[in-house]
Amino acid sequence: MKRQNRVLINGRVIDPLSGVDEIREIYIRDGRIAAGHSSGEEIIDLAGKWVVPGLIDMHVHLREPGEEYKETIASGCRAAAAGGFTAVACMPNTHPVNDNAITTRFIVSRAAGCAARVWPIGAISTGLAGEKLAEMGEMKREGAVAVSDDGRPVVNSQLMRRAMEYAASHTLPVISHSEDLALSRGGCMNEGALSTRMGLQGIPAAAEAVMVEREILLAELTGARVHIAHVSTCQSVALLRLAKEQGLAVTGESAPHYFTLTEDAVRGYNTNAKMSPPLRSEADREAIIAALADGVLDVIATDHAPHSILEKENEFASAANGITGLETSLPLTLRLVRSGALSVKRMVELMSCNPAQILGVPGGSLAVGEVADITVIDPDVRWTFRAAESFSKGKNSPFDGVEMEGRAVMTFLEGERVSSGDIE
Ligand SMILES: [Zn+2]
Repeated sequence: MKRQNRVLINGRVIDPLSGVDEIREIYIRDGRIAAGHSSGEEIIDLAGKWVVPGLIDMHVHLREPGEEYKETIASGCRAAAAGGFTAVACMPNTHPVNDNAITTRFIVSRAAGCAARVWPIGAISTGLAGEKLAEMGEMKREGAVAVSDDGRPVVNSQLMRRAMEYAASHTLPVISHSEDLALSRGGCMNEGALSTRMGLQGIPAAAEAVMVEREILLAELTGARVHIAHVSTCQSVALLRLAKEQGLAVTGESAPHYFTLTEDAVRGYNTNAKMSPPLRSEADREAIIAALADGVLDVIATDHAPHSILEKENEFASAANGITGLETSLPLTLRLVRSGALSVKRMVELMSCNPAQILGVPGGSLAVGEVADITVIDPDVRWTFRAAESFSKGKNSPFDGVEMEGRAVMTFLEGERVSSGDIE
């Protein structure tokens, strides 16, 4: 197929891996970053815009196969492109579970031609049941880039040890949903004064940290690469800091809701503020921002978890966990850049370079020869997020109606423009 050659001019190019942060041209030829002009190129003037390696969200739930009423691979990819993401990694808790080569192949085939790349994450255990290891090698051959039982922890420590050994032999990172189910059982929000006042059963911060520590110890024992999903507490941050000081191959992510909101968002029993792990305290929120800035946390991921109204319009305790995130992640992260908490360069590392590196996938760089996955950001445009207008089938967002500043205005996938960003 003949591809359109392009040159992006006048944009501020931020490419941390090349040490670049300056106004310069980016040349696109045959879907890759080129060194100079090519024939018949389209000129795109990006004055006042930022040009960064395509954003990568390494933690999303696309719901297909099995729950297409909540999201499909195609609709999730449209939401991704609209939010500035050129690639997403999808968790295996679908129906059937992605614990086998056939399901992995199905996801890869459904993703062909979609608005973003899709990297499947295979299950650690068959059926996410925590009893028997899934066929990691076969899933990897079909395109799986990591393994996880996300949505639930691997309770059996011996099984997790074997999973890490097995994953390491296939050079797959293990992504941990760190939750001690005995400590969290029955809980639906952060445990504290507010949960008592609201008459809701709480989940202590320790329910996360206990399991984070187990994963770190097992990473040390096995030499596996372990990535802690959705870090929500300052204790987890402290444990990750120690593990990194020891030189262990442990990385961590947090999500925009954990650095934007606190448990206060649950007041009024708003089920769109219910997720697992739950929103925590102001001290936790501040610790996560500091850890994103200083390198203890490596990645901002959304944990995009679309649900239908049926699952959310429920009593708080029985409502489904999770919120959508693909279209609000970048603008919420830009708040941290504006406040000075994160540099622009650090934001690009957290949202592109580091997830590419952890998953071992293309992207995260605008160097010559790299694939032309590119996100163009207008840092100043003011807009209001309306869940009803979201490209995701899920409308379950606590940020519905919230004013934002900055967004992705163009997304290029292999040099092709996939979203104009003129969404309103
Ligand atoms: Zn999870």
